[in-house]
Amino acid sequence: MTQVEKLLKYQEADSRLLKVEQKLNSSDERKKYMQSRSYLTKASEKLDQIEAKAQELKANIERLNAKYSELAETLKDFDHLDELVEQGNAISFYKRSAQSLSDDLKALKNEINSLTSAIKEQVDEYQTLKKNVIAAQKEYPKLQAAYKEYKDSVQVEAQAITKELKVLAKDIDEDILKKYQAKRSERVFPILCQLHGDVCPMCGTSLSIAEKENASTGKVIECENCHRFLYK
Ligand SMILES: [Zn+2]
Repeated sequence: MTQVEKLLKYQEADSRLLKVEQKLNSSDERKKYMQSRSYLTKASEKLDQIEAKAQELKANIERLNAKYSELAETLKDFDHLDELVEQGNAISFYKRSAQSLSDDLKALKNEINSLTSAIKEQVDEYQTLKKNVIAAQKEYPKLQAAYKEYKDSVQVEAQAITKELKVLAKDIDEDILKKYQAKRSERVFPILCQLHGDVCPMCGTSLSIAEKENASTGKVIECENCHRFLYK
């Protein structure tokens, strides 16, 4: 058997292994398991975000509390208003002062209202997340087990082919096999292709003069564009 024939035989078995891998990767069992896993990872990030937001809201409450104390302090000025006015302080000054205090209180009220709805929003978001996470956590081990079971059943098939490949590999030039495996891991497939005239059948690149000569002697060459193995 020529090197090309051996490699083709190897590739044929390998294509069956690839199909098994694809079957596993595109299975519902894997999809559901991966989705659940990714949801739980994202939920944990989301939880961190909610926590950061809660810290921010807490800082806002502290800020508004300080503002309230400041205003309450100013209100004390009005406790002895009668005396102050009797002492000759103009009533108009206190009127202006009361007006500005009233404006500040209104602004504070608005801030409290928007902070309250921001807190409510966060609480709602947290509760929804909690509910969904609990459901997902309950579901996760089942999906994981279902995926494992499917994977194990597929693995039996894959192991048989892998065994076959090991036997076939013994006859193949080590250097070529190494390159083949590298391409395989880059998801290039098929790796060994028959030339269409002097052109790579997969990407349409023409061979150089040197490569043409090599190919005509039966050597396996590499497409300079898509790096597949080519033979005449
Ligand atoms: Zn090519």
